[in-house]
Amino acid sequence: MPELPEVETVVRTLEYMIGGHRITKIDILYPPIVRGDNDAFCSDLINKRFTGFSRRGKYALYTLEDVVLMVHLRMEGRFFVVDAGTPIAKHTHAVFHLDHGKELHYHDVRKFGRLEILRPDEIDIRLRSLGVEPFDKRMTGHYLKKMAASRNIGLKTFLLDQRFVAGIGNIYADEICFCARLHPESAVAKISLKRFNDIADCIKMIMSQAIADGGTTIRTYTSSLGVSGRFQLSLNVHMRKGEACRVCGQEIIKTRVSGRGTYLCQRCQKRIED
Ligand SMILES: [Zn+2]
Repeated sequence: MPELPEVETVVRTLEYMIGGHRITKIDILYPPIVRGDNDAFCSDLINKRFTGFSRRGKYALYTLEDVVLMVHLRMEGRFFVVDAGTPIAKHTHAVFHLDHGKELHYHDVRKFGRLEILRPDEIDIRLRSLGVEPFDKRMTGHYLKKMAASRNIGLKTFLLDQRFVAGIGNIYADEICFCARLHPESAVAKISLKRFNDIADCIKMIMSQAIADGGTTIRTYTSSLGVSGRFQLSLNVHMRKGEACRVCGQEIIKTRVSGRGTYLCQRCQKRIED
């Protein structure tokens, strides 16, 4: 599932490939992929230029003059920029024809992604439940400690909750727990301010490293691969079951936390109990 760094990569890649270009025509092949009325969606976008590219949490925000196209890729959503007239692939649900001989195809095997039109002043209201961004100066150990106070949940569940910090998903939650040397099921209400300061530093470090890795993808991007934002990550624990911990050499184990596959080093990651 795309997390903040992947969404950031997709947004930056599309900015590079279609920034400033105008939508001339839209084909919606699977109407439920658009939230709201399909005709209104198309008339809001046709003849407008892509003028802004940004992100909030895992949402991509594409400004087209006076409207914002908000995209949540969910599990499998991805964009392809292809030459006009390229055959439509099986799971392509929307085609945006552009004024420079290219088409933007939205492809989604699971059909969980959503495209939605908002006015610029509706964004904050629509996304009001999202917590602070990882790089926001308000995202500090103090902030995390305050959010965690009296909550009866584990650290990984806390990190995945978009109401506290926006954009962290399953992969980076595991990496952040390892970076902070804390067991994913540590009781957040019992974690000290000093440790939350470490967690805040880890969140910023892991996310910025992932975005930097994604930047490599932008430079080597070819349209045939699609813009999924997936890239080769230098992960320490996630998907490394049975491999040696890079710090202590012990085997990385896989367990489940809140139903999510979770990877950790039992020797390095201290469990803070209730
Ligand atoms: Zn270890």
